[in-house]
Amino acid sequence: MAFLDQNPGLGYPLAAGLGLLLGSFYNVVILRLPKRLEWEWKRDSREILELPEVYDPPPPGIVVERSHCPHCKHQLSWYENIPLFSYLALRGKCRHCKTPISPQYPIVEFLTMVLMLACVARFGFGWQGFGAMVFTSFLLILSVIDLRTQYLPDVLTLPLMWLGVIAASDNLYFPLKPSILGVIAGFLALWLAGELHRQYQIVVKRVKNPEIGMAPGDMKLLAAIGAWVGLKGVLPVILLSSAVGAVIGSLWLLSKGLSLKIHIPFGPYLAIAGWIVFFWGESLLQAYLRFSGLA
Ligand SMILES: [Zn+2]
Repeated sequence: MAFLDQNPGLGYPLAAGLGLLLGSFYNVVILRLPKRLEWEWKRDSREILELPEVYDPPPPGIVVERSHCPHCKHQLSWYENIPLFSYLALRGKCRHCKTPISPQYPIVEFLTMVLMLACVARFGFGWQGFGAMVFTSFLLILSVIDLRTQYLPDVLTLPLMWLGVIAASDNLYFPLKPSILGVIAGFLALWLAGELHRQYQIVVKRVKNPEIGMAPGDMKLLAAIGAWVGLKGVLPVILLSSAVGAVIGSLWLLSKGLSLKIHIPFGPYLAIAGWIVFFWGESLLQAYLRFSGLA
């Protein structure tokens, strides 16, 4: 690890290559995990409702099955499965049936590469850099799944939370106590915001059955981010996510011709804000204190 720190000419290309490989794996997770979960829920629901069993083969597993074209089912050979380069070489179309390939593949691959480079640039090639890669990867996968399905799976948010606490138990970025308090504050903050909004609707607006406040997935995501940014990072994440949401939301509405009915998930905003605070929280805070004349 120290060797790579001293030889960035070798370390950075390695991190970039690793990012591309990870990115293509994340694409598979993003596509297959929600389908797999949905299949399991249907199976469990039938069991609970005591409905007769029906034949319903499970969707492909995350790791086991090889990639194929979703349109013509043509199985991809190794040279059609090279991250980023294959998409560019095939000009975004399947080699057999010429169906356009979703731009999500190269976008996620490219983003993963850039983000992994950012991790080693900011935290180096040791355990801190590795932890940053793990945190960043979970946030990226969760964001894209939320954009596609409006859902933040527990199987991702909860391990992300535990990994943050485990990292803090070894004092990787800061001690254990702020990490645990960050989890609690993250969960409670959104719960409280949602509950206040609900009470406001009942008492002031006199709505009989208002929508439940915050999505539980968002609460668990902020709890997980809290484990990684610590207690004092939670409020900056909330403020920043609202700011990011306001900017991206208005751009989105403008580009879609101002249709206010569209649902924009909150998860990606939390993820972007959590990532920024994890990477630059301390310097942002210092800059803010200097700017406002408090320090
Ligand atoms: Zn095809």
